[in-house]
Amino acid sequence: MKNALILLAGGEGQRFDKSVPKQFFKVGNCNFIEYFLRNLDPNIFSIICIVVKKTYKNKYLLNLKKDFPNHKLNFSNAGANRQESSMNGILSLNKYKPSKVLIHDAARPLVSNQLIKKIINNLDKNFACCPYVVHNDLTKDLNKKFDTYNNKIINIQTPQGFKFKNIFNAHKLKKNKNYRDDSSLLESAGFKIKFIKGEKSNFKITIKEDLYLFKKFSKKEFRSGIGYDIHKIDKNSKKSLILCGVKFKSYPSLLGHSDADVGYHAICDSILGALSMRDMGYYFKNTDKKWKNANSKIFMIFCNKHLTLEKFKIVNLDVNFICQRPNINKHVTQMKKNISKLLNISSKRISIKATTNEKIGLIGNGEGIAAESIIQICNE
Ligand code: ZN
Repeated sequence: MKNALILLAGGEGQRFDKSVPKQFFKVGNCNFIEYFLRNLDPNIFSIICIVVKKTYKNKYLLNLKKDFPNHKLNFSNAGANRQESSMNGILSLNKYKPSKVLIHDAARPLVSNQLIKKIINNLDKNFACCPYVVHNDLTKDLNKKFDTYNNKIINIQTPQGFKFKNIFNAHKLKKNKNYRDDSSLLESAGFKIKFIKGEKSNFKITIKEDLYLFKKFSKKEFRSGIGYDIHKIDKNSKKSLILCGVKFKSYPSLLGHSDADVGYHAICDSILGALSMRDMGYYFKNTDKKWKNANSKIFMIFCNKHLTLEKFKIVNLDVNFICQRPNINKHVTQMKKNISKLLNISSKRISIKATTNEKIGLIGNGEGIAAESIIQICNE
């Protein structure tokens, strides 16, 4: 049994933002369509058709197929009105012969997988299934100047589910009309709709104020990264040891192409790890003259720039030094200050610890210093 989904993204949404149609408006690092696909269970639909204007597809959804390889995405051209768009989606899906189809509005990105599955299950015994929420407020008609409270009024949501054959035929039959939604169109063709309880959180994003609600209800994306680095102590060096930007004047420096700040290097690798961006050596080759004796804060600035570009914020950072000497504890406050400034986060979100290696092995013998870092980041 094949299930298909039509995602209607043809609207202009002028009430929301004049510069960009609402479905393409970015919150954090993704727009509402991307948010919806990110949270959609990829096992539900064997084909998804996004109905969108070609110009918008090229401008806002160019990488969508590549970014969501688990969903089988197709595109269809938006029509002059909702019904035409919906029909274009239906016609383009006909060759896949789905048995059920759900038609969803791209401006409702918060619908749960649970509700989607419930609608699909209801189609076993019904021609159509439509979610709703009860309208609880007093309604006033400003033209007619009367109040009405009627608890039989319901607000219809999407996705609306149909047996594919029925909605396909209804669209053919009612071509050139403009029904407000597919459930009204099917009803007009003489079919009964099964109404089921929808979700309050599955509201339609219409005006800017809805962004606040979206942020409240939306799931945040958390990622973690790990970094590890070790450098040998250059016992003959006249330069001082540097750890997280702090100079240890009576200790010789570490061997390295740059200033060998093992703390900053571990932090950078944990950030790059969380962003799935390979490692530091990939961006800053230790054979490149440009980085000879470089101050490692340059690498921290680079990593922080990428965090910002990807719209991620640091939740917390935990750094651990493994060394026999020096005693790190006295310098923790200054190290935190340096990191806080470079990564633009509060010192309270940074932890710096140190442990000796109990005189075991190379680090225990005082030949080297290692650092490890774990970071958690989340999208805005
Ligand atoms: Zn290093």
